[in-house]
Amino acid sequence: MLNYKAPQRDVAFVMDELLGFFEHYEKLGFADATPDMVQAILQEGGKFAENILAPLNAVGDTEGCSWNDGVVTTPTGFKEAYQQYVEGGWPAMSQPLEYDGQGLPYSLSSVLSEWFSGANHAWAMYPGLSQGCIETILAHGSDSQRQRFLPHLIAGRWTGTMCLTESHCGSDLGLLKTKAEPQPDGAYAITGTKIFISAGDHDLSDNIVHVVLARLPDAPAGTKGISLFIVPKYNVSDSGEITTPNTLSCGSLEHKMGIKGSATCVMNFDGARGYLIGEPNRGLNCMFTFMNAARVGVGLEGLAATEAAFQGAISYARDRLQMRSLKGPVNKDKPADPIIVHPDVRRMLLTQKAIREGGRALAMYCTQQIDLTLYSEDADIKAAAEAKLALLTPIVKAFLTETAQECTSYGMQVYGGHGFIKEWGMEQLARDTRICTMYEGTTGIQAIDLLARKIIGSQGELLRQFVNEIRAFCETQNAARRFSVWTDALMQHLDEWRQLAQGVAEKAQTNPDEIGAASVEFLMYSGYVCLAYFWLRIAVTAKDKLEAQSGDSDFYKAKLHTAEFYFERLLPRTRSLAASVKAGAASLMALPEELFHLD
Ligand SMILES: Cc1cc2nc3c(=O)[nH]c(=O)nc-3n(C[C@H](O)[C@H](O)[C@H](O)COP(=O)(O)OP(=O)(O)OC[C@H]3O[C@@H](n4cnc5c(N)ncnc54)[C@H](O)[C@@H]3O)c2cc1C
Repeated sequence: MLNYKAPQRDVAFVMDELLGFFEHYEKLGFADATPDMVQAILQEGGKFAENILAPLNAVGDTEGCSWNDGVVTTPTGFKEAYQQYVEGGWPAMSQPLEYDGQGLPYSLSSVLSEWFSGANHAWAMYPGLSQGCIETILAHGSDSQRQRFLPHLIAGRWTGTMCLTESHCGSDLGLLKTKAEPQPDGAYAITGTKIFISAGDHDLSDNIVHVVLARLPDAPAGTKGISLFIVPKYNVSDSGEITTPNTLSCGSLEHKMGIKGSATCVMNFDGARGYLIGEPNRGLNCMFTFMNAARVGVGLEGLAATEAAFQGAISYARDRLQMRSLKGPVNKDKPADPIIVHPDVRRMLLTQKAIREGGRALAMYCTQQIDLTLYSEDADIKAAAEAKLALLTPIVKAFLTETAQECTSYGMQVYGGHGFIKEWGMEQLARDTRICTMYEGTTGIQAIDLLARKIIGSQGELLRQFVNEIRAFCETQNAARRFSVWTDALMQHLDEWRQLAQGVAEKAQTNPDEIGAASVEFLMYSGYVCLAYFWLRIAVTAKDKLEAQSGDSDFYKAKLHTAEFYFERLLPRTRSLAASVKAGAASLMALPEELFHLD
């Protein structure tokens, strides 16, 4: 079984040494988020992930959730773990003080989200969905809605869901049919069926607060006619007490490939009592306010799976003895050498390591930007962070979840046939993380968002601003004559990145399919360039530390070696991605639909 360890040292490196998180917290007025306090929180959070959640990971996979006459039961131990999570005050960590939260920064709780997901993806879904529900009510709920629902959600006594998907609509929410009929007392009767609802029903909390997308009777068709409602499992009095059961139920559980301990529910709303959040017909706009955080959150799930797969693979590769090194025996007193001597095994391990550490820097850079959008009082800083996040969110979401597929697959491959066997936990990781490229917007949808909405939609401005930041960093390194091969490579990519976007935009003027034809490869290209930027920054920091002889030299040397691997072996993947982007739509669209399959 996988023995998950929270990556404390790497997170400390990114927070303290790479991205200056403590200065960032100080500037934002988080007096409590001192290095000592943060370290203490991360120590405790790490223990919770390692000792409470990780041991339940395989149990959740084996038992799954069960449904009995509308009542859902989670796997053995999930409820007790959730209780400990609540008693530890974890749900309240980054929530506002006025609703009994602890007022700590969002980015800090997102470190724990990564670890909890790495230890037990299925369990971490429950608090993850509550987060989306809390953020929606915080941003768009009325005062009385906040008073009624938030203290319970923030304390973790109640959990939340996000009910968007219906059987005929997932990516295209404009098609949704669930109805909301106004009632004489100002409430609404919600009727319809939602599918794939994570945490739709379970036995972890006293109440479940559903945030539901539905249509008012006179709503315009499409996305402009969607409204947002709070629909609790149990009705709630004005003072926030649970009263009668609402008319909604879990009709069944989906049987699925992974995250089996997470209840994925078909939810039937039969005239259930609901309350409008925000303005009528503005439901989708409301959802956009926390979309960045939710999508970065799924990127963190991908990162978490890569981390866990790497941890398993590295420990196995050190122990497993098979064949001799090509250079001759390394372990002369043993019958064979550990497989970590073989270049191909190292290729897999270093790919995982490079994605894990570069990906963490990128993801935490994004959570730092989310902090700025949430807490900065400087309008310019806020706007700059929003612009950066707009560009980076689809990249983090899709790139870190797509690379997680490769990295969890390598997790299995390093174990050889044992990777395919359940007991080692590697195949579970690959199954569990497979959903991450699909929910919260598929890779295809993220890619269109990046290229069409964010880049072409801003006439290239969002990309230009971020490219300028990277170029300025490269120029500083060039002036200091450091890492010139890597900075040159990165700067060439910056030019090419913009040219590729420009090329697609021009072709799309006469053929709109050009955007969809280029978008996923363009997104992956963007991901590799972003990681190159962070690997260059990591290398600069590591070199500074080594030159300052500040100790821990092996850690920094490993960073430099991994940076070298990244620039020599992973960044060149952009060559084939750029070629595909340039190839255009013709070869994709030429084959008539009826010729796709001929018997
Ligand atoms: C385990 C699990 C948990 C989930 N949890 C929740 C939840 O809690 N709440 C919730 O509301 N939903 C949830 N979902 C639903 C999830 O968000 C949707 O499945 C997802 O948004 C995709 O929608 P779809 O399945 O209808 O696929 P479709 O939208 O039918 O897409 C099918 C394929 O077509 C592609 N495609 C569609 N349109 C385009 C386009 N314009 N351009 C290019 N490609 C396109 C997609 O990329 C995809 O490859 C969950 C799903 C699963 C499996």
